[in-house]
Amino acid sequence: MLLKSSKINEFRLWGLLLTMIGMGLMILGTAGVVFLGGQAGKIIAGIGLVIGLFSMLGSMGIYFWAGMMSTSAVQVDCPECHKMTKMLGKTDRCMFCKTILTMDASKANITADELELAQQHSSSGSQSKPM
Ligand SMILES: [Zn+2]
Repeated sequence: MLLKSSKINEFRLWGLLLTMIGMGLMILGTAGVVFLGGQAGKIIAGIGLVIGLFSMLGSMGIYFWAGMMSTSAVQVDCPECHKMTKMLGKTDRCMFCKTILTMDASKANITADELELAQQHSSSGSQSKPM
């Protein structure tokens, strides 16, 4: 987790960032033709357009993925702010107050720092967990 926000919000943020980067690169590429002109401008425009296009495609992929995941998200009543939020997986943050919520009884009743550590460990470690 790069940001202290819920997983769905983070996916939306990355999708938006990639779209903006892609559009920016395409505009820069086009501007390269106008201002530089000639062969150099064409090369810059080509590179900008190709990278921009891939960036936009990537952002569409992320939006699609986020959409797929949000269908499997669980709606829960946040115990902190009493708003309806969506959870991805067993542990996630509330979309509104950023409180860490968990479905896992073994992880409940510990501090946020401990949970953060456990999350980092499970996401960076291998898939196989000793039961
Ligand atoms: Zn909340």
